[in-house]
Amino acid sequence: MNKPEFDICVIGGGSAGLVVAAGGASLGAKVVLIEKHILGGDCLNYGCVPSKTLLHSARVAHTIRDAGRYGVEPATPQVNIADVMQRVSDVIKTIEVHDSPERFRGMGIDVVFGAGKFTSPDAFQVNDRTITAKHFVIATGSRPAIPPVEGIENIPYLTNESVFSINEPVPSLIILGGGPIGIEMAQAFTRLGSKVTVIQHNKCILPREDDDLSEVVKQRLEHEGVEFHLDCSSKRVSGSAGNIELVFESRDGEQHTVRGTHLLVAAGRTANSEGLGLEKANVETKNGRIVTDKRLRTTNRRIYACGDIVGPYLFTHMAEHHASVVLRNAIFRLPARIEERVIPWCTFSDPELARVGISETEAQQQGIQFNVYKFPFKDIDRAQAEGETDGLAKIITDKKGRLLGAALVGPNAGELIHEYVLAIAKRMKAADLSGIIHIYPTLAQINRRVADARMKEGLTPTAKKWIKIVFGLRG
Ligand SMILES: Cc1cc2nc3c(=O)[nH]c(=O)nc-3n(C[C@H](O)[C@H](O)[C@H](O)COP(=O)(O)OP(=O)(O)OC[C@H]3O[C@@H](n4cnc5c(N)ncnc54)[C@H](O)[C@@H]3O)c2cc1C
Repeated sequence: MNKPEFDICVIGGGSAGLVVAAGGASLGAKVVLIEKHILGGDCLNYGCVPSKTLLHSARVAHTIRDAGRYGVEPATPQVNIADVMQRVSDVIKTIEVHDSPERFRGMGIDVVFGAGKFTSPDAFQVNDRTITAKHFVIATGSRPAIPPVEGIENIPYLTNESVFSINEPVPSLIILGGGPIGIEMAQAFTRLGSKVTVIQHNKCILPREDDDLSEVVKQRLEHEGVEFHLDCSSKRVSGSAGNIELVFESRDGEQHTVRGTHLLVAAGRTANSEGLGLEKANVETKNGRIVTDKRLRTTNRRIYACGDIVGPYLFTHMAEHHASVVLRNAIFRLPARIEERVIPWCTFSDPELARVGISETEAQQQGIQFNVYKFPFKDIDRAQAEGETDGLAKIITDKKGRLLGAALVGPNAGELIHEYVLAIAKRMKAADLSGIIHIYPTLAQINRRVADARMKEGLTPTAKKWIKIVFGLRG
């Protein structure tokens, strides 16, 4: 057999593919990167970056409206959605230089635009060019799943791929889906002045999280004006641009109608595995996702897969982690495996909801012996100073106090969670966090205070009696 032309051929130039390509090239590999659309993928163009930028504009509008709480005269913010989306586009443009084809070509990577397919287990064809490589890496990501609601193909609907480029007012928005994307967009558009209705299949929003935590987010959104219809399924949708009608059915079988000027579909994700000729390459899929082992090797040992196309954790930081596992396996031939124990994530609503490790519900389902400790933000002085008192910290420990999971719903939860990420990764106990000095007055004090809750639990009346006897106390 002829020597392959490249060491690594990366298919898909999003978060996962770019890290593999850049990492491979910097280690001396000859790399070709194939992208069918634009570099940067969902995260830069239609995901993390635009959504967090939109949320920030929404927060500014909310602060103006809410200023009275802080002794400052409130006002009704004048929101021009075209200007807001222009800022979204400007932020993308500022960041996209890191993901530009020129930058990658400057690293010596052959960047090819086009959608190709495998023609055999060791060859990929794109634009009449046949590419051979020692290793292939499939990183083609995911796209919005469109639920089978009658009539949906006949109406104009938005997804994360189009919502950040609208430039007309959105008086009323129906959102299908109460997961992280639906919830972030519900709050953003409400704060920017839209009347938002969320239709959610599950009994609660953010169904991956414990109910007591997701309920804090739901109550805040309701307070801000979001209307929720939970535990129901969408049946039919009809209408035209600016006038959309959705019929949904609640659990008791009753049908209801909701109207809006716009409809946003945020009802899950579908893996981009079609059209790649995977059958010719002997690469198996399950429910559209590529099947891999813990080293991210597909059923064809020459081909790896990483990021959303593998799942199940659809986050940019997981795509980057996957990419590092692939590089260690493909280049250094190390048996590196994906991390499954300590995976953090955050929904960037206000308040944010962040988690790492096991949840209380999962601990119950797994039948393990555990303890739960909670501490509310209202008892943290900094939270009072900032008027951000909704929410709590929650930790799950084993019977010996070792941390198994942590979650926070409250201000800056996505930043605060990282102390637990380290603690759980290093198999620490609640006592380790309790013994660490935390700066006063920070929100991070909550991480020590919730750990203190475990320590205080040890102070039973019998323990107190013995302390008094041993140390001669008189109280
Ligand atoms: C609205 C929204 C908000 C999000 N917010 C966050 C967040 O706050 N934090 C977070 O961690 N994650 C967030 N995510 C998830 C995150 O964007 C994804 O997990 C991440 O982009 C996955 O990276 P990837 O490389 O696997 O896929 P992608 O980034 O989607 O990249 C895949 C690339 O492959 C290309 N491609 C597809 N098919 C082919 C083909 N046949 N040939 C060649 N190229 C192809 C695509 O054009 C794309 O460029 C969000 C997602 C959405 C939709």
